[in-house]
Formats: sequence, structure tokens, C-alpha cells
Amino acid sequence: MPIIVQKFGGSSVADSQKILAAARKAIRAQQRGNQVVVVVSAMGDNTDLLIDLAQQITDQPPAREMDMLLSTGEQVSVALMAMAIHSLGHKAISLTGAQIGIVTDSTHGKARIQSISTERMTKALDEGNIVIAAGFQGIDESLDITTLGRGGSDTTAVALAAALHADACEIYTDVDGVYTTDPRVVPEARQLRQISYDEMLELATAGAGVMHNRSIEFAKKFSVPVHVRSSFSDKPGTMIVREPEAVGIPVCGAAMIKNEARVTVLGVPDRPGAAITIFSKVSGKSIPMDMIAQNVAADGRTDISFSVPRDELPHTIRSMEEAVKELGAEGHDCDDEVSKISIVGLGMATQPGVAERMFRSLAEKGINIQMITTSEIKISVLVAREHAQEALRTVHAEFNLGKEPEAVAGKPAAAPVPPQTNDVVARMSKMEQLIIEDISLDESQARVTVNSVPDIPGLAAQVFDDVAQSGVVVDMIVQNVGRGGRTNISFTMPQKDLEKSIRVIREQADILGCPPPGSSPRVAKLSVFGVGMKSHTSVASRLFSALAAEGVNVELISTTEVRVNVIVDGAHGEKGRAALLKEFADAMG
Ligand code: ADP
Ligand code: ASP
Ligand code: MG
Repeated sequence: MPIIVQKFGGSSVADSQKILAAARKAIRAQQRGNQVVVVVSAMGDNTDLLIDLAQQITDQPPAREMDMLLSTGEQVSVALMAMAIHSLGHKAISLTGAQIGIVTDSTHGKARIQSISTERMTKALDEGNIVIAAGFQGIDESLDITTLGRGGSDTTAVALAAALHADACEIYTDVDGVYTTDPRVVPEARQLRQISYDEMLELATAGAGVMHNRSIEFAKKFSVPVHVRSSFSDKPGTMIVREPEAVGIPVCGAAMIKNEARVTVLGVPDRPGAAITIFSKVSGKSIPMDMIAQNVAADGRTDISFSVPRDELPHTIRSMEEAVKELGAEGHDCDDEVSKISIVGLGMATQPGVAERMFRSLAEKGINIQMITTSEIKISVLVAREHAQEALRTVHAEFNLGKEPEAVAGKPAAAPVPPQTNDVVARMSKMEQLIIEDISLDESQARVTVNSVPDIPGLAAQVFDDVAQSGVVVDMIVQNVGRGGRTNISFTMPQKDLEKSIRVIREQADILGCPPPGSSPRVAKLSVFGVGMKSHTSVASRLFSALAAEGVNVELISTTEVRVNVIVDGAHGEKGRAALLKEFADAMG
């Protein structure tokens, strides 16, 4: 019999009427001939209320006790949901994470699933029950309750769908589906019919709170088709699958993380291994580093900047004080009034000028860009928080995201291909472990760096406008935070376009009063591509340690949810790739 997993978020079970409505949906699915597992979140804002209660007692609640407390929210909902189904004349059984056998590691507050046992659920389903599973929680080896991180019920749902080889995973929420951006912030946002795993993963990590990013890692890893839809209507929602909605359009969505903080370590000696000291200090505390920008060094020293969630700033600063001492760096500096705006799209990899359009649209609104990082399918900029909403609206309008794309439609959300059973079983033992799919080397690029450009709105737009007009397709762009009103911008392009790029940039440098551009005619780009690249906080530090041990110096860095890209000296490409293959051998999928 087909199995369906339905997940109801907090707002979908916020009161008794809503719980009864959700119960009816589950019963209908069962009556259509499915076995049904329902995953529920805590009612309404209950998780927030519990956090608030804890804060009233102490500002440093022990992590174990916090998980004990927060897991009660979901325990209330599962019991009420099971009662609702009974009251409507059907069989149901509620189960906590521990009762299901969702085993996690012991990282309280952001635990990772290690294994799920399906025995009890399967038995209950075979007896005709609708199984009601508590989202967001698990149990570790010592039988202590753990939670998966805010929004983690999505991850429970997709993980159960994978473990049960379910035919569908439906995420019921308070919006009609996944939109081009948060419809509460930008009312012109459009609902997508379909989105690819890679795009959704980047959007979720870039702030699209509609899905927990780790749930998409699961969906991708186990090929679970996810249907995000409204609890309050029967309209079709958005399918998250392998293929994008349309091919040929550069951008499918935009997102914002409002509360970010930027940290810069100033004057880091530019030698192999310097970056590791910084990354390992941060990853050692399990702090997720987000944008990382290291620009090409001037005078043997470089500045390394990264962003972290704002509430992780105090921990991060403590680590940076240690790093500055160890490295003999000049100091550190931070700004906790910043937000990150990102655009995402599979099509941008093959189209010139996408970054330039983003930068120009912001410049026209007088919004200064403090930091830039790019990857194949995402461009992120850091802006002052006071401009964040306007910036999101601006880029959304620039790429006409509110309108149906005219480009060729991608393949329709085809009937899901059920994953090969053997494959699922083999990978299940790893559940949320890091999986590296590929480590690639691209030796076809060159680099140009413009130094000491004035740090004012419109500058990046101007630089990349001229470059795009000359027909050069830029790959990586890194702009670090400015110092003394000046900043550096580096980018890479095909080697054949180096001369042209230098010419364009030299003209600009003359106009702007900057020194002549620096360049390297042959660089090597190493890309580590996989699942869990960022949520496994140690990836960056492992990567830098491995390269440093071989004496390979990193010139530029950019990271995304699915990829870490580094630019190294052109002569060190093969050596670097070999070092990375060795370092990540255990994680190669
Ligand atoms: P639930 O409680 O059902 O898990 P969430 O609040 O976690 O619901 O997620 C739904 C919310 O996500 C929406 O109300 C919306 O404001 C927000 N959101 C942010 N980005 C997007 C997006 N791109 N598409 C749809 N909703 C989004
Ligand atoms: N109740 C938890 C939270 O609010 C988990 C979830 O809703 O997904 O974060
Ligand atoms: Mg949610």
C-alpha cells in the first residue's frame, strides 16, 4: 500500500479547530488507500513561548534541559492530533521521537539524525492506524531527548518519508507553497510550481524560512519528492524535485537573512594555514559560518571576513580574539547591523551579467554593498540592516520574479522515481552524514583584482557593468569589507578573456584613482561539492588544513550550501585536488 507522510506546521495546528481540520486531511488520505504518517509541530508559537519561559528563569539554560523543555511542545500536539482522529472515528497512535526510534547525536539544540527504526511505525500502520509522529525531536545514545534545530519538523517529515520509502511527503503550512521570496515581505512574490533541490537548498539556507534546510538535504540525498502546500485549501502547492521550474531563466528566487553579523580578521599574514586557525576556532564551537570572503593579499597580509548569525556573535568574537593572537594578525572588527540578501537560480551559471544586474539595481537605490560572495547558483551580498527589505524588493523586481517566466518550462514534476531500495538502505546508515559528491579542478581560469576601490554604492555595479559589456563571463566574485573607505574586488574569468578584462579594469582604475589592477594569468579553482557542506561546520577547516599541509595557499574563497570553492595558484591545482580527495575520502558518496 502506498505510504504518505503529511507534516503540519505550528500555524496549521494552532487551535483545536485547526487540529481537527488537519486530522480530516489525514483521514481523507487514508480513505484514498494510503498508509498515513502525520508529523506535527508544536501548536502556534508554543516553541517561542517555551524559550521565553526558560529565559525568564535563566539566560543560560543547560542545553539538555532546553531540549527536554522544547520537546514538550510537539508532545502536546501529537496527543491532541491522535485524539482528534479517534473522535472522528478512526484509529491513530501518537509517538514521540524516542518511541519511534529517531536516534540522533548528542548536540542538543541542533542534533543530527543518525538512524530511524521503522519497525514500530510499520506495525502500527499495518494495524490500520494513522501514525502521529512528534516532529523536531529525537533521542541520543544515553536516552536523552534532543531537538533538531528550529524548523526541524520538516526534517523529521522528510527523514521519515525516506526511511519508510514513502510515495509522497506533503508539507502543510500557512502559505500556498514556495514563493519567489517571502510573500509577507514582498507581496508581489509569485508561487512556484516546482523548484529543484539545489535551488531550494540554497534558498532555505539563504533565509527562505518555509523549509528547514536540512530537510532538503535529506530530500536530495534520498530522492524524496516534497510537496509544500497550504493547510487551509486544496490548491496544488510547490513540488521540490530534481528539475527546476523552467530552464534558461537566471534567477528563481531571492531570500534574506535579517539578523547577521559580520566579522573581519584584519591583516592576517598570507601564508598557508592562516585561514585554518580562524575556521577551526569557529567550527570548534559548531557556529555555522556563512559568507566567507578572503581577498587577495596586499603587502603579504590579507583580511578574512565571514558572517555568522547575529546571536552567535559573542561566542565568535571570543574565538577571534584568540585567533588574532595566535596568527599575529592586526586585529578584528565586527558589525552586527547587517543583513544578507541572496539570489538563487540554476540558470545563472551560464548567463553573463547576472551579478552586474543585481549590483546595479541596488546601486540605483543608493544601497551600499559591504561584501559579495558568489557561487555557480547563488549570489549573496551583505548590506546594512536598515536597507535589507528594500534591497530584497529591489532584486526581486529587477529579475521580474513576480511574473511567470517565459523561458522553456522544465520537465513537469514527473511522477517520482522511487529510489532504489538497495541505495536507500546503503545510504540510510549514514543518515545526516556529510556526503561529498565530487571534488573538481578547473584550470581554465584567470584572476583580476582591483585594489583600493572607493567603498561607495554603485561601485561593484560599475566594475561589472563594463566587464559584462565587453562580453566576458565572470565566474567567482569576491568583495571583502572595505577598510578606510576603500575595498578590493577580485573575480575570475576564462583565461582567454584576461587581457580584455585587464584593459577594462585598467580604464576604470584610472577613472577611480585606484592603483593598476593585479592579476594572475592562470589560477586553479578547486570545488568541493556535496550535501551538508555548511551544516557540517568542520568542512571549511578540514579543507584548509588539507591544502595547507601540502603548502597550497588559498587566494580566494567562496562557500555555499552545496559547495566550497577556492582559488589557488595555477601550478598547485593537481596537488590541491589530490590533498582534498585524500582528506574527504571517507565522505565520498
Ligand atoms: P510552519 O509553521 O508551517 O513550519 P513556517 O513559519 O516555518 O511555517 O514557514 C512558513 C513561512 O515561511 C511563511 O508564512 C512565510 O512567511 C515564510 N517564507 C519565507 N520565505 C518564503 C518563501 N520563499 N516562500 C514561502 N514562504 C516563505
Ligand atoms: N516547533 C519547532 C520550532 O518551532 C519545530 C518546527 O516547528 O518545525 O522550531
Ligand atoms: Mg517551519
